[in-house]
Amino acid sequence: MIVFATNNAHKLQEVRQILGERFDIVSLSDIGCHEDIPETADTLEGNALQKARYVKEHYGLDCFADDTGLEVEALGGAPGVHTARYAELYGEQQQQSHDSKANMALLLHNLEKKDNRHARFRTVIALIYKGEEHLFEGIVEGDILHEAAGEEGFGYDPVFRPEGYDCSFAQMSAETKNAISHRGRATQKLVRFLSETRSQ
Ligand code: IMP
Repeated sequence: MIVFATNNAHKLQEVRQILGERFDIVSLSDIGCHEDIPETADTLEGNALQKARYVKEHYGLDCFADDTGLEVEALGGAPGVHTARYAELYGEQQQQSHDSKANMALLLHNLEKKDNRHARFRTVIALIYKGEEHLFEGIVEGDILHEAAGEEGFGYDPVFRPEGYDCSFAQMSAETKNAISHRGRATQKLVRFLSETRSQ
């Protein structure tokens, strides 16, 4: 059994689908963990490790955890580790964390006078398995559109156009997005590692 340190049903289902029957993946609520796990590091790697270590220390179980950031070149890599809370932390008006509309509005505002709109999504997965720590990274390069387009997905999907495509993430099917996305790529690396370890 391996704990995925999330209560996001969508993420859990995605990983379970890729791993199939080979591993028993359970969520935080499945192990009775209902507390807010601290995410206070200043890097994606630090946050992912912090969450995985928390579960290992408090529940003694093998575990993996992920953290994702949008890194915009012209903004020096921001919002990065603050992606979920961008407007809440840096906006002029008080916003809730995870307010996608406010986050996108602030991003478009901060890029108004910039020609360079290059950005990437980066996901880091930290795994603690059989007493060892491993990190897996997934990146998708792209750029930030001038206005939101599309209804699918979540977060910054309507303003992110992945390299090689003429549409935003929010205009793609979940299947197409998962095949090329940051999280999809990091998850594929995790799955490859676990499958190889299992078959040894
Ligand atoms: P988390 O670490 O997966 O919770 O992601 C942090 C934040 O990044 C989310 O709250 C979203 O705003 C944003 N984000 C993560 N993944 C995606 C994605 O696939 N599309 C758009 N936004 C994303």
